[in-house]
Amino acid sequence: MLKHKCLDQCIACTACTVQCPVTAAAREFAGPKMVGPALERFRLFDQDIEISADYCTNCKNCDITCPSSVPVSLFSTLAKAQYRRQNGKSLRDWILVNGEMFARLASPVASFANITMNNAVVRTMLRAVGIADRPLPKYAEKNFYRQFAELKQQRFPDKVVFFPGCYIGYNDPRVGMDLVAILQASRYEVIVPDVVCCGTPAVANGYLELAEEKARRNLRELRRWAREGWPIVTCCTSCGLTLRQEYCELFRANGADEVASQHYDAGEFLLEMLEQGRLNSEFIPLAGKYLYHAPCHLRAQGIGLPSLELLQSIPGCEVNVADAGCCGIAGSYGFKKDKYDIAMKIGERLFTKIKDSQADMVVTECGTCRIQIEYATGVKAVHPVSLFKQALRFDWVG
Ligand code: SF4
Ligand code: SF4
Repeated sequence: MLKHKCLDQCIACTACTVQCPVTAAAREFAGPKMVGPALERFRLFDQDIEISADYCTNCKNCDITCPSSVPVSLFSTLAKAQYRRQNGKSLRDWILVNGEMFARLASPVASFANITMNNAVVRTMLRAVGIADRPLPKYAEKNFYRQFAELKQQRFPDKVVFFPGCYIGYNDPRVGMDLVAILQASRYEVIVPDVVCCGTPAVANGYLELAEEKARRNLRELRRWAREGWPIVTCCTSCGLTLRQEYCELFRANGADEVASQHYDAGEFLLEMLEQGRLNSEFIPLAGKYLYHAPCHLRAQGIGLPSLELLQSIPGCEVNVADAGCCGIAGSYGFKKDKYDIAMKIGERLFTKIKDSQADMVVTECGTCRIQIEYATGVKAVHPVSLFKQALRFDWVG
């Protein structure tokens, strides 16, 4: 019923198609207006068999742009899921949507796994199943969960629930530990609940049954904290968007609205603390020239650019905004052999801007944006929380 109503909201203005980075980069993609509201009418009667929805990265730029509030990307997601159900699933996509399972297996032997992943035999096998020939994200020697478990936290009455997500959990734990340090120094106890992957890769690849399983499992764990009124914070903008929007929109699962209403992006939460005078810290002036890139999934949350405001409050910190669109990687998309060229083409404008900027570092919230930027430009990319922590003077030793 909701889908029918949304279809009728489309005024065929094509604004979504103009702003879609894939439409501009790939002739194979029919564009959000066509794949979305136009073809959905045929899908309702099982009459559409075109597969160009598979080119959609789920970046949400169409949703951000649509003047009629049509959830355009939702139609691509549902079309992918329908296509997968009717035509079977690929081994390549199964590997990509189950990244967390591989990370859990690899994490105890991270050094060995990192060497093995890039060995010629394994690379040949990955190429054969359709994974692009580019470096895979390395696993951390000690994952976030182990580091957090070993931490001797100070107990405080105020709590923050932190949802780390797979990339911070297993590849880039420093970001999570930096957030914990700032929160502890600001007299918050940090709770890390027993959660699993938010399900973003499963949603983006049309594995909706798997995504729903993860959603229900996470919501069972998170809703009790939401009901107690504690903020639920994410550093990864895709995890954030999923908790804030996708669980409500796609699954209507028990607790989805409560969790969404308690969700904060880390930058949003820290900025609020700063404005309330709650940050227990003094700033150290931060020299250097930084370029900020806003991930698509942050812009889709409709909360502005809180991390940018946070960084602009640091004395001496010169931070400019890239404002050059999507980086192209879109989570697992840029790791697919048949999508690699499209992903790199989408990111061209951003890569040029970064190279021309002479910035010492790029700052961006999304883990896979950081991977893509470092890979394409050679410029180091960091999470704003880590840069912000560098600028804080406090005594906490974690
Ligand atoms: S989600 Fe992104 S890639 Fe997909 S149709 Fe919308 S703008 Fe295009
Ligand atoms: S932007 Fe919205 S109203 Fe305009 S064509 Fe796309 S879906 Fe329809």
